[in-house]
Amino acid sequence: MINQNSGKMLVGAIEGGGTKFNCVTGYGNGDIVAKQAFPTTTPEETLTRAARFFQMDGAASNSIEALGIAQFGPLGLDRTAENYGKLLMTAKPGWSGFDIIGFFSGIFDVPIALQTDVNGAAIGEYFLGAAQGNDNFVYVTVGTGIGGGIFVNGQLLNNNKHPEIGHMLVQHDLQKDDFPGCCPFHGNCLEGLASGPAIRKRWGLAGEELVPNHPAWELEAHYLARLCVNLTCCYAPEKIIFGGGVMQQKQIFPALHKEFLTLMAGYMPALNDKTIGQYIVPSALGGDAATRGGLILAQQSHARRNEISISAGAG
Ligand code: ADP
Ligand code: ZN
Repeated sequence: MINQNSGKMLVGAIEGGGTKFNCVTGYGNGDIVAKQAFPTTTPEETLTRAARFFQMDGAASNSIEALGIAQFGPLGLDRTAENYGKLLMTAKPGWSGFDIIGFFSGIFDVPIALQTDVNGAAIGEYFLGAAQGNDNFVYVTVGTGIGGGIFVNGQLLNNNKHPEIGHMLVQHDLQKDDFPGCCPFHGNCLEGLASGPAIRKRWGLAGEELVPNHPAWELEAHYLARLCVNLTCCYAPEKIIFGGGVMQQKQIFPALHKEFLTLMAGYMPALNDKTIGQYIVPSALGGDAATRGGLILAQQSHARRNEISISAGAG
């Protein structure tokens, strides 16, 4: 639950993306007070800029009392492991091994929570957006990469690690689509076939430059429908929520619904023409999902630290 009493405590949140960083200050209930976005460059330069925002521009006369970071991964999330709080091996030059929590805890003496960017967005959607009241759902972002946050029984699945659903293998029919895929690890995994960069490489134009009736969108729906079938069969979610730059192309949704139902072939009768529009849905918070989730994470880490110090004092 969100602690409404924490509504007036100023906290900070970061959505650390591969292309840009979004920083906000706000309250533990997810309300944003100030925001700033800037391009992702080297870790030192980018994080220094974020820290400056929390110290100066975003904080006015108050200082932040907790920080929630929703960061592109892969990340070390196991608090007991040596690599906790660090970027793991990433294709992004200069970022592998960088100690994100170490950097900010050297500047701010406040509780710091870290999650992946997609898990941060999933938390935002759960408390404030399209997943309110759904304890089992998947949030998927389709942007520079493809990633997913999975909620099972009201909890993020496997909090100490995180799933990498973008790299699942989907059927790739070379007769239909001869683009070989562009994942540096796997070539034609889902991300290699359906991410924003895959669209740009396949068609020679970025997604935002393609017309709404371009064949790119049918093909996008083709791959995302396969993702949705796999997620449905693995997790039986109540909802699958899509965010990220590519999903601003709203015409993907009807094509995705149709293809998904065709592939399911009536196997789960509750998923049908009447219900599909509430099953595969766009993000309700859009570009603010991860930062608003980050504010909630910050509030939760503050509450956790208070609980620990109260019980330590009582002992
Ligand atoms: P990031 O993944 O870096 O956090 P985005 O979710 O905005 O950021 O994803 C960026 C990718 O989405 C780029 O590959 C871009 O070409 C694509 N994209 C951004 N806006 C649109 C749009 N309106 N339509 C289609 N593709 C888009
Ligand atoms: Zn891959």
